[in-house]
Amino acid sequence: MLPYGRQSINDDDVAAVVEALRGDWLTIGPTVDRFEAALAALGGVPHAVSVTSGTAALHVAYHAAGIQPGDEVITTPLTFMATAAGAALLGAKIVFADVDPATGNLDPAAVAPLLTERTKVIAAVDYAGVPVDAPALRRLARDNGALFLQDAAHSVGGALDGQPVGSLADLTTYSFFPTKNLTTTEGGAVLTANPDLAARARRFHNQGFILPGETPRLDEGPWLREIVEFSLNYRLPDVWCALGLSQLRRLPEFVARRAALKARYDEALADLVDSHELVLPGTTDNASPAWHLYPLRVPAERRRAVFESLRSQGIGVQVNYLPVYWHPVFADLGYPRGLCPQAEAYYRCEISLPMWPGLTEANVAQVVDALRVALSV
Ligand SMILES: *Cc1c(COP(=O)(O)O)cnc(C)c1O
Repeated sequence: MLPYGRQSINDDDVAAVVEALRGDWLTIGPTVDRFEAALAALGGVPHAVSVTSGTAALHVAYHAAGIQPGDEVITTPLTFMATAAGAALLGAKIVFADVDPATGNLDPAAVAPLLTERTKVIAAVDYAGVPVDAPALRRLARDNGALFLQDAAHSVGGALDGQPVGSLADLTTYSFFPTKNLTTTEGGAVLTANPDLAARARRFHNQGFILPGETPRLDEGPWLREIVEFSLNYRLPDVWCALGLSQLRRLPEFVARRAALKARYDEALADLVDSHELVLPGTTDNASPAWHLYPLRVPAERRRAVFESLRSQGIGVQVNYLPVYWHPVFADLGYPRGLCPQAEAYYRCEISLPMWPGLTEANVAQVVDALRVALSV
């Protein structure tokens, strides 16, 4: 089966991990600092906190934002559950706003009427790797006394108006899961330009220990590092930060390859668009996407048959995503279907074609041939 996504690990990556394994630290060592500095440089902000997953990054970011029971978080339904779960775990009420059908990204015009004095965070996802309209969403948040969080699990390495993803929001989260744009096996990060948000994120990802430079309240002796809040251990080990550093050096090449594959698919699918009512992935003029997915849309009534045909032909397609509030965990709370019609329509038509740096031109031709067969069934 040709997978929909796959990591790219080369000899340099392996050597970096082996070196870290043979070093003095397996975790909490100097490679963590180096990886975080490199992530901050990539995102164009002073602070990056590495964590054990993109899900952990969201939990940490919502904690840093000060989410408490009764607060409201406005987000997109066209995402992975973690975008909502991180805030729900802290007691927030999740409010879903609809997406722009061109990109699948949260629509600022749909967010505006949902703002209340309880809204603490607007959380958007750069669907498929296309950056959201961050300036508009950030303005909406700021004018309402809220924060703007960008779940950039798909868009690491992307930019908007020449500004890197990481610098566009109050808080940005990355994922380094194997199918994402670079990998540390499991892993993620929280980026911010705000030193207070950075400090809150850093304490929460590491047991609630006070940070270097903070004034201790206890005077027990040089052995004590005091703990000031209930927290978790979300630390990313040195070994995996070494992999991350090596992968970061390759990220520009990965992003370029993904862009080339996106163009190749567009070209190869062009003659099927009208005859089979396909919709190819959309972007915006000012975006430099990092194409994590190739989200093709087919007529809704044909989606299942096309999906099954592709799978039976060895093409490992996926669907991204079931509207988050259709999952029983939200449906059981009373979230009705029909809440966000554009997101639901997007979902009903969507099939993600294979997209990863090691995919060859021949693989793309193979996928498109299989799609031709699937569409003509
Ligand atoms: C992958 C993903 C996450 C979660 O990241 P993990 O590293 O798998 O925990 C969160 N949000 C989106 C949009 C994702 O695609």
